[in-house]
Amino acid sequence: MPTLGSWGRYPHHPQTPHSVGWPFEIGNAFSRIQGAGVASTLGYGCGRSYGDSCLAQSDHVIALAGMDRVIAADWQTGVVTVQAGVTLDGLIRIALPNGWFLPVTPGTKFVTLGGAVANDVHGKNHHVMGTFGRHVRRIVLHRSDKGVCDCSPAENEELFNATVGGLGLTGIILAVELQLRAVRSSDIEQTCIKFGDLDEFFALSSQQDSKYEYTVSWVDCLAGGKSAGRGHYIGGNHSAAGELKVADGHAKRMPVDPPFSLVNTLTLKAFNALYYQRQVRKVVETRVSYDPFFYPLDKLLLWNRMYGKAGFQQYQCVIPPESGRDAVAAILRETSINGAGSFLAVLKQCADIKSPGLLSFPKAGVSLALDFAQRDALNTRLFARLDALVHEAGGRLYPAKDAHMSAHHFQSAYPAWARLESLRDPLLMSRFWRRVTS
Ligand SMILES: Cc1cc2nc3c(=O)[nH]c(=O)nc-3n(C[C@H](O)[C@H](O)[C@H](O)COP(=O)(O)OP(=O)(O)OC[C@H]3O[C@@H](n4cnc5c(N)ncnc54)[C@H](O)[C@@H]3O)c2cc1C
Repeated sequence: MPTLGSWGRYPHHPQTPHSVGWPFEIGNAFSRIQGAGVASTLGYGCGRSYGDSCLAQSDHVIALAGMDRVIAADWQTGVVTVQAGVTLDGLIRIALPNGWFLPVTPGTKFVTLGGAVANDVHGKNHHVMGTFGRHVRRIVLHRSDKGVCDCSPAENEELFNATVGGLGLTGIILAVELQLRAVRSSDIEQTCIKFGDLDEFFALSSQQDSKYEYTVSWVDCLAGGKSAGRGHYIGGNHSAAGELKVADGHAKRMPVDPPFSLVNTLTLKAFNALYYQRQVRKVVETRVSYDPFFYPLDKLLLWNRMYGKAGFQQYQCVIPPESGRDAVAAILRETSINGAGSFLAVLKQCADIKSPGLLSFPKAGVSLALDFAQRDALNTRLFARLDALVHEAGGRLYPAKDAHMSAHHFQSAYPAWARLESLRDPLLMSRFWRRVTS
């Protein structure tokens, strides 16, 4: 039987899937798993979490991607109810032709609704719409100890809040009722502005963010000296012109699964320099389809294989506004001193928009995400140093991307963890949760 893993392929703990296609099969799956003497399990969507938050402590997961049916859709109000295994791609395909789009989307459409709720994902519009969980109206949950429960802000509110961003630990999500966002076109009016250093990024961001629903910046993390922190600021708004057209879905697949990483100092330097120089003019305005705007990485399926069998880790933190600039500068400096570099260094300002989720990651401040090829010294050297900087600056790391955070850092950054633990389904346990709570 093929096994499953996480997107970063680190840590390497192959997961045995117990697949279900219908909600009524969840109870049987619980009984079968317990009957086989497996102590715990975990729901599994598309495995697009980078680290070990989607890996069961027992290495036996309940695979939910087969539960992918639309239960109800009201195209007057944009309220849909779907099974938790429906992907964002699947939802866009039915909603967009009807004039509706996701209220919040992460940088890949290949995630399930269950996964989006469990990590309370955020997107380029956090400063306007907050996290995904703010747009969820109701969740149907199956717990091993209580059976099926309906949760919403009006019913079982505590369980609802714990399930949003609850890392899949409060029960198996069967269905999600979601409020979509109205759009008139599938295109985005995009503005791309080149910036020369980190100070220019912060100045641009404070001048421009209010003009755009979507903002994100790419940073050349290998540029040093006066150019440290140079990059491209990208802003976008849904267009009023153009058709309501679903993307054609053609994507290339990473053709090989190399045993070693193709990402090294040489390829990184070349990529970063070329990427920065690709735009000659300071400001470029274009109209683009939603697909390349939101999901540029989805064009190459299984791009995670680029990092070879050892995999890679993403380091994503959010730092409060008062310490954001200096902490980001220090993190980028530390990264280049260590000779490490990232293809994707992404900066985004998050706003002070409260989510119902107890353990939601975003908070007001700047978020930085960096990818690193896995090597032995990563956790003990570079990440230990970066963790200290983030901790001192009052920031925190994103559990959905994490594979190394200490229990101390997690518990001080997410004090509500103990409430989640008290509401945890006793049969559900991830490798991440065991690591950060014991
Ligand atoms: C290229 C890329 C870009 C990304 N960009 C962003 C971004 O911009 N913002 C962001 O927030 N995240 C981002 N992510 C992370 C990704 O959006 C989240 O990790 C997402 O939750 C993954 O969903 P999944 O369906 O793959 O779930 P999995 O990774 O399989 O599982 C995630 C969690 O959900 C739980 N779970 C899944 N289904 C269920 C269910 N039915 N019931 C109960 N629990 C369940 C699992 O137990 C686990 O805890 C990105 C990931 C990739 C690969």
